Amino acid sequence: MRWPRFFVTGTDTGVGKTQASRALLSLLADAGLSPQGFKPYESGCASLSAPADALSLREAARSDLPLDIVCPHRFRAPLAPGIAARRLGREPDWNVTLAAWERLRHGSVVVEGAGGLFVALDSSHDVIDLISTLGLPVLLVARAGLGTLNHTALSLEALAARNIPVAAVLLSRSTSSRDPSERDNPAFIAERHRVQVLGPVPYLVDPRRRHAAFRKALAPLVQNALATGRSNRARGR
Ligand SMILES: [Mg+2]
Repeated sequence: MRWPRFFVTGTDTGVGKTQASRALLSLLADAGLSPQGFKPYESGCASLSAPADALSLREAARSDLPLDIVCPHRFRAPLAPGIAARRLGREPDWNVTLAAWERLRHGSVVVEGAGGLFVALDSSHDVIDLISTLGLPVLLVARAGLGTLNHTALSLEALAARNIPVAAVLLSRSTSSRDPSERDNPAFIAERHRVQVLGPVPYLVDPRRRHAAFRKALAPLVQNALATGRSNRARGR
């Protein structure tokens, strides 16, 4: 059985990973699955008992799973998790991450990374190592505007070098100002890298409209994953 599962990473921090993860989870929940969000490392937590991204994913998934499973590693410092841990003289236990994953991996899951692919999680693992270990297809969230061709290509090349499949690239506007590169970027990235490109998601301040815009952009990806899952199940795979 193959349930829809995604690892959401970004070309950078603050590109819309949490928004994209929330949209995927809510679409999967609407489809009648019982998806779970997984944000194994969260830094910049104002309160260690209330990691904002993890709580937001759990809410979008309509789940009540304990936070220790949804988000086992939390840090106050707004730094890469591995750097925040190093400042505290701690080493986040990789086995704790794997144990939490073991509780989640049998159903539909959306995992949100931290920052981009080479953000440190501990002294020997970056986000890309976690993606490899979990064996999930990637949704790569990228900025819609100028600079995204380079950042997107670097991330896609790194993923290809590890044989990590890419489900899609999602372009998202992270500022209210538009730039002229936005018009050509989606088609160019799709053609050059032979990857499905979704978006650009417009820049919207209102949280409900923003959520709706991410859902609209990601609906084709979820529909496709549901159809693939159905046909695999019918074939007994
Ligand atoms: Mg986030």
